[in-house]
Order: sequence, then C-alpha cells, then structure tokens
Amino acid sequence: MSAALAAVPVVVRPKAAGGCSDAPVLKERGQREVFCGLTGIIWLHRKIQDAFFLIVGSRTCAHLMQSAAGVMIFAEPRFGTAIIDERDLAGMSDANDELDRVVAQLLSRRPDIKLLFLVGSCPSEVIKLDLSRAAERLGRSYSPNVRVLNYSGSGIETTFTQGEDACLAALVPGLPATNVKSLMVVGALADVVEDQFRRLFAAIGIADVQFLPPRRSTLLPVVGPNTHYLLAQPFLADTARALEGRGATRLEAPFPLGVEGTTAWFEAAAREWNIPDAKFQAAIAPAATRASAALSRIRHQLAGKRIFFFPDSQLEIPLARFLSRELEMNLVEVGTPFLHRQHLATELEMLPAGTMLSEGQHVENQLDRCRAAQPDIVVCGLGLANPLEAEGMTTKWAIELVFTPIQGYEQAADLAELFARPLVRRAKLAA
Ligand code: SF4
Repeated sequence: MSAALAAVPVVVRPKAAGGCSDAPVLKERGQREVFCGLTGIIWLHRKIQDAFFLIVGSRTCAHLMQSAAGVMIFAEPRFGTAIIDERDLAGMSDANDELDRVVAQLLSRRPDIKLLFLVGSCPSEVIKLDLSRAAERLGRSYSPNVRVLNYSGSGIETTFTQGEDACLAALVPGLPATNVKSLMVVGALADVVEDQFRRLFAAIGIADVQFLPPRRSTLLPVVGPNTHYLLAQPFLADTARALEGRGATRLEAPFPLGVEGTTAWFEAAAREWNIPDAKFQAAIAPAATRASAALSRIRHQLAGKRIFFFPDSQLEIPLARFLSRELEMNLVEVGTPFLHRQHLATELEMLPAGTMLSEGQHVENQLDRCRAAQPDIVVCGLGLANPLEAEGMTTKWAIELVFTPIQGYEQAADLAELFARPLVRRAKLAA
C-alpha cells in the first residue's frame, strides 16, 4: 500500500504475496465474441469536438454504427460511412474517386470539421484500399483548414477498444515537439472526469497537465524527451509505443479505478514531480475519504459475490483488482482479449494470488467454464449477455463500462453500483 493511501480510510486487503505477476495464463485461440474497433468512434467523436470520423466501409459497418450510437441522433452526427459498393470491389479507382467525392461533399457542408479521420474497415482492408495514401492526398487538398488522418477500426483481429488505440496512435506523429518537462494523461476520459483530474493535479502542485485526446484538434498536447505520461486506459499499447518513439516516458501505475488505483495513479505523477508527501496527502484526502465512505456503503452488496469476466474491453484486470480489493468480491475467472504485461504489471501484482487469468477467447470453452462455476455475476459482451440471462445468470455489459465515467474518486461508488445494481435487481426478482 502506498504511503499516501495509508492516510485515508480505505479498506484494502494486503497485497497477496507475489499477486499474479508470474501467474500462469490460459491462452485461448478460438471463436471470439467482440465488437470491432469502429465502436470506439462512439465515444471518441464526443470527445474531440471538431473531428469527424468517416468510416470507409460497407452497409454492415454503417448499420453497426447506427445501432451502437443510436443515442446520437439528437446532435449533428460527427461520424458517417463512405459506402464501398460491390462494384468498387472490381476497380480501386472507383473506390478512391467515390471517397474523394464523399469527402468534398462532407467538408463543403460542414466547415466546423477541422480533423477528418478516414477509418478503415474490413471491406476497405479486403480490397486493400490504401487509406494512408488517401489521407495524404486529401490532406494536401484541404490543408491548412482540415487535417486528414487515417486508422483502422477493422474487426479483423481487433477488439472494440483498440479503435481508440489506433485513433490516438494516429494523432501522435502530429503532436508538436517540446523539451519542457510536461505531464500527459493518455486515453479518452469523460469531460467531467478530465476536469476533476485537472483540479486534483493542480491541488497536488502539477499545474500544466495535457490530455490526449484533446477536446479540440487545435489543442493537441506537446511531446518530447521530458514528457511523462500516465495511461488512463489499459488498451493503448500502440499509442504508448508511438509516444515513446517521440521520447516520452510512461509513469508506472495502476489505472485510476477505485480509491486505491486512483491514489496510486496520482501518486506516480507526484513522485516524478517531487511533490512532498504531506502536500500530496492533503490534496487527495478529501476526495479519497469521500469515495471510501461511499464504497463502504455499497460493499455489503458485493462482498463475497463471485464474478466472472469474459474478455471484451481490456478493462477486466483493473476492474477485477478494484472489485476484489476494495469490495471483497471473489474472482472466478478474469478473461482479457490481450494481456499487456508491462502496462498491467502493477495491476497483476495487486490481484489475489491464484486468480484464474485467461487471454484471448474460445467462447464455447469459456461458456462451459462459466456455466460450471455458476458465478453471481458475469461481465461480457452484448452478444453473450442475453443468452446467459436466459440461462438465469446475472450479467453486466462490458461496453457500458467504457461509455460510463468510471475513473477517479468521485466515480468509484458509481463504478461499484454498476455491479451492485444487477445483483440487487436479481435478488428482488427472486424474492
Ligand atoms: S469493420 Fe468489419 S467487423 Fe466492423 S462492422 Fe465493418 S465489416 Fe463488421
């Protein structure tokens, strides 16, 4: 436990000897039940307010996005699909001409767009449409008013949160260079969370904090050899690599979920900035104390309950750490699409020793394990939730955890509630 954490009344278990740092991981390679990386657009287009995401794909991609982002019909949408028709499959020039035409139409109608992402999909990858060349070509035409970038959200070999990783990694080469010591928070966070974090960093004594992605494309963070970055999301391997390619250094920390994770996350920056411990503790104590009190009111609903994670969002390991250590839940299996050992080193250390970890997916085998274990609650993708509910299990959609503000002190109890609510509802139905 960190020194700073000792000052706040959070109930945590002592680190299990060794945690799960060297624990064996069941590697599964079979059928997977996950959304594709296009889904990341749903939260990214709300975050970067002057960006537009143009999916270069098929009607299937358009339907997925329309149904997944159905809530966005209230606003002028900031994503769309350039449909590659079947006729385009025969001739590449058709597809490029069509793309240029759609982009010209879009940009003349929407002068508010300052950053245009061409988002690759399975169809554009199948016909090998070179979107990086298309982005360069279009970028030259529309510069300096509109910057055009590209990334892939294709469902081939990706999971849904990797869309964000690919998008942020595409932004990194264009970040302005600096030699000044700076802190960057990396990963899309709800604006309310970003504001809370900014205030807490200021109270700790780190005033100039930058966020990637920024709220506007004109506010890109600067990067260089004295940039230290904190990952706010665990699924940003490519972005991290790109930032390190620009000289930045990652601050080792667990993710800011729960009181313990949030404290250790801020503490990693405070240590790098040589903030005196007393100042750090004074800055975080009010929020940490409030969050601990809020968690203690929910704990009895979750303590002792058994939870099973199907691999979906890559948030599984930090969530499992929070639920087991701060809410006393028992982990039956923690599945993750990918296990990035380096970025999750602290998280793995903090998991209870002996936790069953799995990476990748063989959905039938995993369903068998889940049915045999009969957990109290299952975290899974949308496709599995209904069949499991029909079998009498209580489920939580993994995607909801990505859409909901769950990071930081003020959100710790909301995060716990997301797991408590379905259990309480099930208990009421059974009563
Ligand atoms: S990118 Fe691929 S997986 Fe995603 S909706 Fe389009 S076709 Fe389907």
